[in-house]
Amino acid sequence: MLEFDTVPAERRPAEERAALLADPGFGRVFTDHMVTIRYAEGKGWYDARLEPFGPLSLSPATAALHYSQELFEGLKAYALPDGEVGLFRPQANARRLNTTAERLAMPQLPEELFLRAVWTLVEADREWVPTGEGQSLYLRPFMIATDPFLGVRPSSEYLFVVIASPSGSYFAGGAKPVTVWVSQDYSRAAPGGTGAVKAAANYAVSLRAQAQAQEAGCDQTVFLDAVEHRWIEESGSMNLFFVYERDGAPLLVTPPLNGSILPGVTRDSVLTLARHRGWGVEERPYSLEEWRSDAISGALRETFACGTGVVITSIGTARSRDGEFLIGGAAEGPVTSSIRDAIVGIQRGLAEDPFGWSLRRA
Ligand SMILES: *Cc1c(COP(=O)(O)O)cnc(C)c1O
Repeated sequence: MLEFDTVPAERRPAEERAALLADPGFGRVFTDHMVTIRYAEGKGWYDARLEPFGPLSLSPATAALHYSQELFEGLKAYALPDGEVGLFRPQANARRLNTTAERLAMPQLPEELFLRAVWTLVEADREWVPTGEGQSLYLRPFMIATDPFLGVRPSSEYLFVVIASPSGSYFAGGAKPVTVWVSQDYSRAAPGGTGAVKAAANYAVSLRAQAQAQEAGCDQTVFLDAVEHRWIEESGSMNLFFVYERDGAPLLVTPPLNGSILPGVTRDSVLTLARHRGWGVEERPYSLEEWRSDAISGALRETFACGTGVVITSIGTARSRDGEFLIGGAAEGPVTSSIRDAIVGIQRGLAEDPFGWSLRRA
């Protein structure tokens, strides 16, 4: 078994940490340590370390910098009521990392090593797991191709890193419904492409659309399918759910995993919870036209987006070049709140966890 060597960091004083944890925002404060593991073809994974958080030293020829052979994951650690720390479904992230690695011709990372890397960092920086309302320790594992070589081919060497960032809720303002921009100019992902995996490059190609969304006064972008520009796929970093009512119970509609939609762990959790509650669930193509006309007629009750960062956020308004429409009077609906409460309750160890989603260190 690959053991971690420890190079202890100089820990920041408690007062400095407390000041940073009071209002960490998202993704801008980092803990004292990071984990790194190297890979070389023919040798496998080696040189696992827990070391001080700090700059990486890379050749300017490093393959990842030129051709985006780079992947990432995102998951959260939560302070539990008994003082322990829980990770939310980390095995799902380990599996998805390997699906992404395969698509990007990168090496597989054993699930066991992924989990130990994450736990090693969480335990070393235990005091950085915030305890405030809506707060968590966001964990960002990523892998980059490190061959110092400009030829286009899969790298033979890689670096896997985990960093951690104490975070408040992703959108400042909390549960306020957001306004989304439906992008008709840009696609995020195409059939046969990389939309279904967590390739860093997917985000680079979505940034122009996100800038347009912001110019239009919107918080987030919604992407349509790349072929017909008609079917709703997902938001830039979140999966989407459309809430109807059928036979007096909620009915959740979400686009199917068609190869260009990212299979979110939160998406899967929402589907599992909804089925557990006996609600209707449909994974089927859902068009912009259907969204618009059902929102206007009132048949559509709610729309929400979900992902690790935000957990669940209500969508109140959808805007595009053709105008805008409101969903459910642009107020958060009861199904959205109830799903959020259930997932957050499990994450924080405050609710029963019938699915075994909150993991403690064995
Ligand atoms: C990560 C991600 C999501 C959400 O996945 P979670 O596992 O729920 O965090 C959704 N869409 C895209 C494009 C993503 O990269």
